[in-house]
Amino acid sequence: MTKYRIGLGWDSHRLVEGKPLVLGGVTIDAPVGLDGHSDADVLAHAVTDAILGAAGLGDIGMHFPDTDPQWKDADSLQFLAHAEKLACDAGFRVVNIDSTVILQNVKLAAYRDAIRNKVAEVLKMHHENISVKFKTAEGVGPVGEGKSAESQAVVLLQSKY
Ligand code: MG
Repeated sequence: MTKYRIGLGWDSHRLVEGKPLVLGGVTIDAPVGLDGHSDADVLAHAVTDAILGAAGLGDIGMHFPDTDPQWKDADSLQFLAHAEKLACDAGFRVVNIDSTVILQNVKLAAYRDAIRNKVAEVLKMHHENISVKFKTAEGVGPVGEGKSAESQAVVLLQSKY
């Protein structure tokens, strides 16, 4: 088996009033939140897809279809934990994660450590191996206009055998 595998994840959700803004399992104090079937945690979804992708195990929609009432308002950290378990069962461990959240108008830097610690806890990793970066879209496009948020993630898996 190949010793190392990398995976790429991307996600986007609409920003609306009246919904919580949850990023990496941490609730952010903001006037708008992310809309979706689950809790719409755009960062958790990107990292989940990156893990699944690196392990060659499909994508988040395959494992947690948004047509399934079971996942209505679901805590997306359970998707992340499940993806890690699938990758582990397939013979991999997560080496490190790098991620970016792109969101206009909400200051996120103060939440960085909390998000890294939360993701580390779910994935049973050291927080030093989890990077979370924040960017705006410079006011351009749907993200820049505050209509949506996006996240990107890359993950490195190492074969356990
Ligand atoms: Mg999503």
